[in-house]
Amino acid sequence: MSPSTLHDGLEALRTDRAHEPAASSAVSRLASEFGTPLYVYDRETIVSQFRSLRAAFASRFPKLRIHYALKANGNGALLAVLRAEGAAPEVVSLGEIVMALRAGWAGDEILFTSSSKGPEEIAKAVEIGAVLNVDSRDELEQAATSAAAAGKRVRISFRINPGVDPHTLHHINTGIPEAKFGLHLDGGLARAAYARARELPSVAITGIHCHIGSQIMETDGYVATARKMLAFVRELKRDFGLSLEFVDLGGGLAVPYHDGEEGLAPAVLAAALAPVWSEAMAALGGDPPALWLEPGRFFVAPSGFLVTRVNSVKTTTVKTFVNVNAGSNTLLRPAMYAAHHRARVVGASGAPEILDVAGDVCETGDILAAERRLPRPRAGDFVVFLDAGAYGFAMASTYNARPLPAEVLVDGDTATLIRRRGTFEDLFRDETK
Ligand SMILES: *Cc1c(COP(=O)(O)O)cnc(C)c1O
Repeated sequence: MSPSTLHDGLEALRTDRAHEPAASSAVSRLASEFGTPLYVYDRETIVSQFRSLRAAFASRFPKLRIHYALKANGNGALLAVLRAEGAAPEVVSLGEIVMALRAGWAGDEILFTSSSKGPEEIAKAVEIGAVLNVDSRDELEQAATSAAAAGKRVRISFRINPGVDPHTLHHINTGIPEAKFGLHLDGGLARAAYARARELPSVAITGIHCHIGSQIMETDGYVATARKMLAFVRELKRDFGLSLEFVDLGGGLAVPYHDGEEGLAPAVLAAALAPVWSEAMAALGGDPPALWLEPGRFFVAPSGFLVTRVNSVKTTTVKTFVNVNAGSNTLLRPAMYAAHHRARVVGASGAPEILDVAGDVCETGDILAAERRLPRPRAGDFVVFLDAGAYGFAMASTYNARPLPAEVLVDGDTATLIRRRGTFEDLFRDETK
């Protein structure tokens, strides 16, 4: 048998074979070379996630553009992988515009969404020719003024609030009527916004957008949203003669965070949307709009592993805590959303016990994995959290004066440092006294 690669080791962790030598040797190698806590991303998984989505949709939607929501993970090395695969950038701030340009995308490939954009953000979008995904009538007027002042036309779409509940966590449910995002179809708010945009000579209407939430498991919410959006697109054509370049149905595809669970397979979603789409396109006639999608989590979450080292193990009268050298400062999702990340104890093969994996931050809520059946590790062993590639490092902070972790990209048996570990100097670098 040929020796196992780093990629094989990561696959062993993913498929619950953390006791196998492939897993131990990969994790020890990575930890001794780069230290812990460490974010590790498997290039092959990013590529296969992207290609699976593209293949599922490209066969059914001839005009297709796939964006990547940079906020899920903005490391330039990952952006380079996704850009090479053909993804365009979806950004939510001026900082992410800078990130996208730095990664080599052209300004006019960028789609800029945010419910609260400042004047400098609008001006930058105008300057570089990005599509400004407008969230309010107020923003529309500001964009028109900004473009007129620059002697340009600003390309816009409107973010629509379709009033659909995709049955995900409340905090990441963005298309429900009470959410802060978008212009409501209800009450004619979205219609009035398109009507107004038509009157503004410095505004070029290019598309329509929605994004109804994140970690969505079912197709129902997407299909209901597509029906509403496409009926509205037909109304815009009929009443205003508007032909849009694109209809963006957002991101939000779920990935599995539990063993045995399935996320939302792109082929299932594509098959559910296809009949609704082709019916609307036939009715629209003319040059039909392209379908745009913009997942973040789906492309990068499963590629990511957070490698931590056990500091100590403690049994109280109530529980056993495994104290590791990362916490909610490193991986916020468990504390913020009660999110579940699978935890693997590397190399241990004892009988499973009920354990809590606790972080090293001084907060009671700093539990990375609660009440899991795991073999008991010892100090110095490694605990690895799976599916940490999205909203992991991106949400990390230096709370408790802990420098940011390093990030590594694995390609087969090669590991490349893609962000050096933070230093204590970094913590004070910006202080001026
Ligand atoms: C966050 C976000 C996405 C990506 O969401 P995922 O759940 O990571 O796929 C897409 N579009 C917008 C507007 C977003 O804010």
